[in-house]
Amino acid sequence: MTHIILFGPPGAGKGTQAERIRDNYNFLHISTGDVFRYNIKNETALGKRAKSFIDRGELVPDDVTIKMLAGEMRQADDKNGIIFDGFPRTKAQAKALDDLLNEQNEKIDALISLDVDDNILIERLKERGKTSGRKDDADENVIRNRIQVYYTETEVVKEHYNEQNKLQKVDGVGDIEAITKRLNKVIDQLI
Ligand code: AMP
Repeated sequence: MTHIILFGPPGAGKGTQAERIRDNYNFLHISTGDVFRYNIKNETALGKRAKSFIDRGELVPDDVTIKMLAGEMRQADDKNGIIFDGFPRTKAQAKALDDLLNEQNEKIDALISLDVDDNILIERLKERGKTSGRKDDADENVIRNRIQVYYTETEVVKEHYNEQNKLQKVDGVGDIEAITKRLNKVIDQLI
């Protein structure tokens, strides 16, 4: 199985591109943000635990997130691989993911970083907020906090996989189809 982390700040286009990768390559797509939103909508215990963090643009605690991720990974049986979208977001999450895969004699093949300028991120998220119905897209202060959290807590994950020579950078600016082509080129070398 191929295991790819699609990485980048909020608004980089991870969700949009991960869905395309899922369909093109028959991968399981795990978006931890989507799983949290599903749980919030259905008012589960997990949703109730996560909601206040998400609404403020902060990270849900690692123990909660890692446990959820481990459960989601069990659905990968008939797939060619997994595309991780929005996970890992901390160094502890990256280590937990490496351990989980290691137990199954698997590994991360690449972290693909979608590079997008901060100004473009903010504009994209404000635009998305008009239709997404997401509380964390609706307030510019929360948007800025999410980008700040990316730099203070999440960017280290890139370095973690760079040290393993697994970092691949892709320009995340341009039209959706052009970015998909850039990503496919990288992924075709991995499978
Ligand atoms: P996303 O849909 O990836 O933008 O995630 C939305 C929100 O869900 C984030 O701002 C966090 O509050 C929470 N979240 C998603 N993934 C994670 C994660 N891996 N670790 C902690 N919190 C997360």
